[in-house]
Amino acid sequence: MAAIRLARGVTGRNKILKFSGCYHGHVDSMLIKAGSGLAGTSSASSLGIPEGVSQDTLICELDSEDAVNQVFAQHPGQIAAVAIEPLPANNGLLPQRQEFLKFLREKTKSEGSLLLFDEVISGFRVAFGGMVEVTGIEPDLVTYGKIIGGGLPVGALAGKKNVMEHLAPLGGVYQAGTLSANPLAMVGGLTTLKELTPIFYKNLEQTTANVVKMFDKFLKEQFTTMSLPHTTGLFWFSPAQDLRQVETIDNHILAENFQKLFSLLLEKGIYLAPNGYEVCFASSAHQKVLGDLEERLWT
Ligand SMILES: *Cc1c(COP(=O)(O)O)cnc(C)c1O
Repeated sequence: MAAIRLARGVTGRNKILKFSGCYHGHVDSMLIKAGSGLAGTSSASSLGIPEGVSQDTLICELDSEDAVNQVFAQHPGQIAAVAIEPLPANNGLLPQRQEFLKFLREKTKSEGSLLLFDEVISGFRVAFGGMVEVTGIEPDLVTYGKIIGGGLPVGALAGKKNVMEHLAPLGGVYQAGTLSANPLAMVGGLTTLKELTPIFYKNLEQTTANVVKMFDKFLKEQFTTMSLPHTTGLFWFSPAQDLRQVETIDNHILAENFQKLFSLLLEKGIYLAPNGYEVCFASSAHQKVLGDLEERLWT
């Protein structure tokens, strides 16, 4: 919410471009889905969101330079920011082409829009510097949450100096709240971040690889259409072998297949998140239980 207000305040523009399949929290302007009409049209995905709000949110398919070019051409000089999860992880795990993310960086720059990386999931997870570090692409704004609270509720916004100095009290974009910089959440977050050493990420990468390898062997026996896209700390029981095929799979088929896997694993004492579009998180704690997991899988 603050990132979007800031992008609008800095650019003096109202419209935000986001992507189908990316989630950016419960703020009205981001609870918008693609409309049934032309590329870029949109409608609210919750009751209680005024049409006026949804009109300023433009939606594109992920991975389509053409769609982005088209929406910019339709709304010249009106798009304040392009928001994306650089590693979309709220609708399955949908790693993007580096060239697509690079294209968004160049396109926003040339159009005078800001690029917003929503790293609420990927930040401090895939690497200490999140997807910014992994891709080497520098957005104008980055949002964080989840990990940075160490289990306590917090969100944060980071950005380049020339953008951030527009926030109050230096600039004219208002941002404040009763629980802003809540001391308890700050201590929880700081304590967590201090654990996140380079060796921690090396171990997490290895642990994720081990967990994925184990499940992969299991899928190969009984769930041959599924695959396990993954990055450090994250993996997904994908319904298809190939990312491009994922879009073509019907929701009901996905749910049915996932239900079978979910039930079978539950019988073995392995509890997945109860929805096929939820990604799985490998944590440092999993290394210790790998042997136990393996035994459960094969009995
Ligand atoms: C969870 C999530 C949010 C929302 O965070 P809240 O703390 O629920 O507001 C935003 N963006 C992404 C990518 C998320 O995964």
